[in-house]
Amino acid sequence: MIAELFNEPADPATPQRRPLTPEEADRLPHIHRLLLGHYGQPAPREPWDPLTQFIYSLLAGRTKTPSAHQVMRDLERYFQAGPGNWESVRDATVAEIERAIAVVTFPEVKAPRLKAALMGITERYGSLTLDFLARYRTDKIRSWLEQFEGVGPQVSAAVVNFSTLRRRAISIDANHLRVVQRLCVVPRADAAITEERLMRLVPETWDAEMLDEHHSLVKLHGQTLCTFSEPRCEACPLLDICPTGKRNTGELKLTAPTPGD
Ligand code: SF4
Repeated sequence: MIAELFNEPADPATPQRRPLTPEEADRLPHIHRLLLGHYGQPAPREPWDPLTQFIYSLLAGRTKTPSAHQVMRDLERYFQAGPGNWESVRDATVAEIERAIAVVTFPEVKAPRLKAALMGITERYGSLTLDFLARYRTDKIRSWLEQFEGVGPQVSAAVVNFSTLRRRAISIDANHLRVVQRLCVVPRADAAITEERLMRLVPETWDAEMLDEHHSLVKLHGQTLCTFSEPRCEACPLLDICPTGKRNTGELKLTAPTPGD
């Protein structure tokens, strides 16, 4: 079954695409430079193995980052598990997993999905690991991961980009999506289409690590200044290139009291 999915050659050459205009080609690098100037260089990631990243990403959806990190520590403590040794989580009952992951959002949904995915991986590969994915094409890895319930493009991109697989992809979480939509970098769409459109703008020189750094900066921006309910556009390093920010600050000026009021 595994062979059927992965019987194609290694990653093909980058498909032909329309050449970008100079403005398009600099769109993401310009945003990157501005965010780097504001936030500084993100701490380099120490990539996890693909299965550990998969478990983290499956549980981290709609959960604040500190809680997502906490749940990994909780899983490790509760089941004496960890990288290279997740069998005790797979073999636990759904109720036990649900108790152990209580710190994340929707534990009652994520617990059965996690157990089913860990069992599914074992069934299909013969043991509980995702290290074998390193031999296969990025698009095939992603579609294979996305066969499991609850695994969408955001999770599959995180696994291929953040883990030791280190492939080119952008994990479009809610923060990333909101920021690029407000900046009007690409037309408004769901996360999967947004990633596809953004990848067309990514310079060919950006490797997996650079894409990870870009995602970290955009996500950090969404968590700090470009928040869901209260974007602080007046303090934003992207204001000059952000149509939403210009509209927001223009509205603020229009509604500000005039002298003598
Ligand atoms: S200017 Fe405002 S809306 Fe635009 S990216 Fe900055 S904080 Fe977000």
